[in-house]
Order: sequence, then C-alpha cells, then structure tokens
Amino acid sequence: MSTSPPFNEEAIIELVRQVAGPAPAGVDVGLGDDAAVLQVGGLQIAVTTDLMVEGVHFDLSFCSPADVGHRVMAANLSDLAAMGAKPAWGFWSLALAPKPRREVVEPLARGLVDLGREHGLALVGGDTTAAPQMAVNLCLMGLLEGARPLLRSGARAGDAVCVTGPLGGSAGGLAWLAQGGNPSEPTADRAVQAYLRPRPRVAVGRALALSGRVTAMMDLSDGLASDLARLAKASGLGARVEADLIPLPNQLPTLAERLGADPLRWALSGGEDFELLFTCSPEDVPLLTEAAARAEDGTQVSQVGRMVPESGTFLQSGEGLADIAFTGYDHFPPER
Ligand SMILES: [Mg+2]
Repeated sequence: MSTSPPFNEEAIIELVRQVAGPAPAGVDVGLGDDAAVLQVGGLQIAVTTDLMVEGVHFDLSFCSPADVGHRVMAANLSDLAAMGAKPAWGFWSLALAPKPRREVVEPLARGLVDLGREHGLALVGGDTTAAPQMAVNLCLMGLLEGARPLLRSGARAGDAVCVTGPLGGSAGGLAWLAQGGNPSEPTADRAVQAYLRPRPRVAVGRALALSGRVTAMMDLSDGLASDLARLAKASGLGARVEADLIPLPNQLPTLAERLGADPLRWALSGGEDFELLFTCSPEDVPLLTEAAARAEDGTQVSQVGRMVPESGTFLQSGEGLADIAFTGYDHFPPER
C-alpha cells in the first residue's frame, strides 16, 4: 500500500510556487520567505501579508476587538522585522459577520492602527466584505533602506542558533484564557499579555540586519520546532537545539504546572511568540546580543543551539536526542 505525502501547509506553499512559476525581474526575494523583496525605482521594498480568522486565530470570548487588531498588526510587523525592513504602509481586508457594530469595528481599527503607528506604519487602503465570521488580513510594505534582506537560506554549518526574548509565553497565555482563567491572575498575567499584546521585534530586526553579521533570520510564528526546521531546510542544513538553553518566562513553569502542561512544549510548538530566530558565527553572539539590547531596551538574546551539516532538527535534553522537526503549529494537520 502506498501513501502519498501529506497535503499540508508546506505542500500547499510548494504547489503555489510551481503554479506561480519563476519570479520575474525586479523580484529580489520571491515566495517562501517571511516577506517578498521588490526592486522599485531604486528602492528595495519588503511586502508581507498575514490573515487571521475568527475561530481559528482568535476567539472573541477572550480576545477584545482591540486585541485582535493588535495581534494581526503584530504578526505582520513581525514578518517585516524578520527581513530587517522599516515598516511604511499597510492595506487591510476586513470580513465581518452580518450586521457589523461600530463598537466592534472602531476598537479593532484602533488596535491595529495604534501598533502600526508606533512603528512608523500608516494604514493607507483596504476592502470590506460580509462573511460568516470575522477575518482580518493585512498586507504591509516596508523599506530595506541600507539593510541587506535577511533570508532563511543563509545559515552556515557551525553557526550559532539564537532567539530573542523568552519563548512559550503566548501559548501559555492562550491555554490559560481558553480554560476560562482570570487574565489578571499573577501567575498568568504576563503570559496573557504575551498572547493578547505581542511586541513585534521591529527595531531589533532592523539592528540585526544592519549589523551585517547575521547569516539567516525569520520570525517565530509557529513555534521554534517548526520555524527552525524551515530555516534549516531552506539553508540545506540541520539544527541541534539544547532544551536547557531555551529561554522561558519566569512565571511559565508555575503556570504550566497549574494547567498540567509542559512549558518547554509551549516554547517549541506553541507559536505566536513573534520573537526573532537568527543564525550567526558563534563569536558574533555577544556583539549581536548587545546590538539587540541597544535597539530595544531589555531585549534578551539566547543561543539555543547550532546549525549542523546533517539534515533534521533535533532537541537534546535529559531524555536524549529527539526529532522535533515540524512539530509546531500546522494549519492543515493530517487527520488522526
Ligand atoms: Mg514569518
């Protein structure tokens, strides 16, 4: 009996890549990275788009419309950050359930516009339609302005694998809210904020790109396990990560214990932390740690592992070596 490979998110991207064909002249980076990079009149423009759907990406019973607006903007800004681009313009598409209410749309728009403005981005166009449930899409454009775009494919064997920020907070916050937890409970409040109000690393991404010392970069949207596997695959390499080196927020182990969950699993597979994942020479880690902290006060950089010539993404822990490739969030999981 033969089994065909799963038609999952990776397979869909590959199919679209084939249908779209090779990128025309003027496209410096095409399908498959965090953003495309276009050459327009001597400028390099990074363009990204990201969609969030009610019932899939957010639940209005514990996310306010302002939170939804903030999160959609954060997810998109995070992709520009991963390219080292400076945010400039945004376009949105908004699908609303019938009989839309001003009390929903206004805070949604404000949540989105306020975070964009904080990072120098203006909302300049869009489209609206009725739909069975709410869906918000953004398309953002940013300028490279002197930074070479950082791709997923540039890592070299022996490079250090680094991440910004602690990881897993967003998944912990979501797990807490989904169980009806009080958002201001002291063991959960920071995780809840990480989920509802993620801070995209725009200034840090820019500083890392301008340093010229980063070999590959992407943002962490689906969890370290999947995202690092994507970076390794794009670079034609593998990666080894050490469980002890993965930075977790202080309160997370306590929160996980209360929920009977594993905080490391949140960090590896939870997703939506919107931190940055990058690779560099091991000797450049201190310099880049400093550059990140200078760009945004208090930014933590941790080396969690290294790139290796053999393919596969593995986690080293007290329990031995485990294959973690693509164990993160999959938008189209196989049926079990
Ligand atoms: Mg991304």
